[in-house]
Amino acid sequence: MISQTGSRTGLRGRILLTVGLTTILIMMLMSWGILYRWRQGQIQREEGTALAVSHAFSVAVIDALVYAGQGFEQPEGVLDHYVELFMVQNQRLRAITILDPEGEVVAQSWGHLPGLWVAGDLPAIMTVPGPRVVIDQNPEGSWVLETIMPMHSGNHRWGVLVLSFEADSIRSRLAQGFFLLLIFSAAVTSILLLLLWMLLSRILNSLHTLVTAMDQVDFETGYVPPLPSRGDEIGLLNLGFQQMGKRLQQSRQDVLRAEKQVWHAERLASIGRLASGLAHEINNPINGVRNCIYAIKADPENREQTNEYLEMMDEGLSHASGVIEKLLGFARKQQSGLAPVLLNDAVESVIRLVNFKLGRKNITLKTELDPDLPTVMADRQLIQEVIMNLLINAVDAVPDGGFIRIRTQANDDEILLLVHDQGHGIARHIQDQIFDPFFTTKDTGEGTGLGLSISLGIVQAHGGILHVESTPEDGTTFTMQLPMESAIETEEKE
Ligand code: ADP
Repeated sequence: MISQTGSRTGLRGRILLTVGLTTILIMMLMSWGILYRWRQGQIQREEGTALAVSHAFSVAVIDALVYAGQGFEQPEGVLDHYVELFMVQNQRLRAITILDPEGEVVAQSWGHLPGLWVAGDLPAIMTVPGPRVVIDQNPEGSWVLETIMPMHSGNHRWGVLVLSFEADSIRSRLAQGFFLLLIFSAAVTSILLLLLWMLLSRILNSLHTLVTAMDQVDFETGYVPPLPSRGDEIGLLNLGFQQMGKRLQQSRQDVLRAEKQVWHAERLASIGRLASGLAHEINNPINGVRNCIYAIKADPENREQTNEYLEMMDEGLSHASGVIEKLLGFARKQQSGLAPVLLNDAVESVIRLVNFKLGRKNITLKTELDPDLPTVMADRQLIQEVIMNLLINAVDAVPDGGFIRIRTQANDDEILLLVHDQGHGIARHIQDQIFDPFFTTKDTGEGTGLGLSISLGIVQAHGGILHVESTPEDGTTFTMQLPMESAIETEEKE
C-alpha cells in the first residue's frame, strides 16, 4: 500500500508556501514602486500650489513695499491688513511672515513665533537664493509645508516672504493611500493563493485517484481499475496507466504460458528419466531370468543346474520387486503411522543395521546426539529409511578407514539431523540432480538412484527440508530439518 496523505499535504504546502512568498514579495515591490511615484506626485502638486499661492501674495506685498519705498502715502498697517485678509482667504494657511532684507519682521500673522519655522532659522531663511519649499514636523508634532519666497523687483531685494501651510491633511491622504494599497495587495495575494489551492487540490485528487488505482491492481487476476478520461495531462497519465495495465496483463499471460511450457517440458524429461531408469533396473533382472529359463529348457534333467538357476531367478526377481517397492515408496503410496519419535533412537537403530557395512570398510563413526532432543511426531519407519539412505550414501562415499559423523540438535522450533562424511564430495554440476529419481553415479547393480529422491519425498511429507552442502575438500553434509510440530501429509489428506 502506498502512503499518500503525508506527501499530498506536503507537496501542496510546499507549493503554496513558495508561490505565496514569491507573490507577497512581488506585490510588496510593486506596491512600493506605485506608492513612491504617487507620493512624489502628491507632494509635487502640493508644493506647486503652495509656491503659486506664495508667489501671488508676494506680488501684492512687493507692490506695497515699492509704494512705501517711493514715498507714496499708504494707509496705516496696510501689510498687516493684507496678511489678515490672505489668511482668511486661504484656509490651509497657518502663518505668514514678511521680513525686510535685514531679517526684521515687517508684518506677521497673529500669534506666530519666528523661531518655530520648520525651514530653518533666520540666517538660513534670509540667504535662500530662490523660492524654496520644505515639508517637516513642527515641535508641536504637526506637519507643516513652508514656502520661503525671496522678494525682488529689478535688482532691489525687498526681503523674504514665509508662508506656513498645514500639511497634516497631506500626510493623512498619503497614509490612506498606503493602507488602501496594502489591503489591495493582501486581497490579490489571498485570491491568488485560494485559486492556486483549488487548482492544486484538483491535481492532487486526480493523482490520489491514480495512486489508489495503482494499489488496486491485482497481479494475480490482471485486474486494472478503470480511471475517468480527461482532456488534460492528468488524462494522459490515466491513459498511460491503463495501457501499462493492459501490457502487464498481456505479459502476465505470456509468463503463465511460458511457465506451463517449462513445466510440461520438465514433466516430459522426468518421465523420460523415470522410464529409462525403470527399463534399465527391471530389464536387467528380467533378461537374467529369461536366460535362466533358456538354460533350464536346454537341459531340464540337470537338477543341480536347475536349482542354481532358480536361485538366480529368485534373486533377479527380488531385485526387480525391490525396485518397484522403492518406487511405491517414492510415490508415497505406503501407509504411514504418526507417533512421537525420538530421533536419537531412530539413529541408533539404523547404525545397528549398518554396523556390518561400517566394519567392513573400517569406517570411524562418531555420533553427537543431543540428549535433550524433544520427540517429534513422525512415521518412525520412514524417518529411519531417510537416515539409512543418508548413512549408506556416506559409507559409499568415504574410502576405507574413512570418517562419518552423525549429529542431532534442536533449534527454536525444529529438530536437525546432520550426516557428515569426509568422502569424495559431490561435483557442483550434479548437486541439483542428485534428488532426481534414478539419478546415480554408482555402478550398475550398486545404486538405483532412488535413495535421495525417496528421502526428499519423506522429509517434505513431514513438512521438513532436506539439503546438502558438499565440497571435494570438506566432504558432504546432508541436513534434515523437521519442524517440532511435524505433520505428515498422507495420500488421504491430499
Ligand atoms: P544411489 O545412492 O542409489 O545412487 P541416491 O539417490 O541415494 O541414489 O544418490 C544419488 C547420487 O547422489 C549418488 O549416486 C551419488 O552420486 C550422490 N551422493 C549421494 N550421497 C552422497 C554422498 N554422501 N557423497 C557423495 N555423493 C553422494
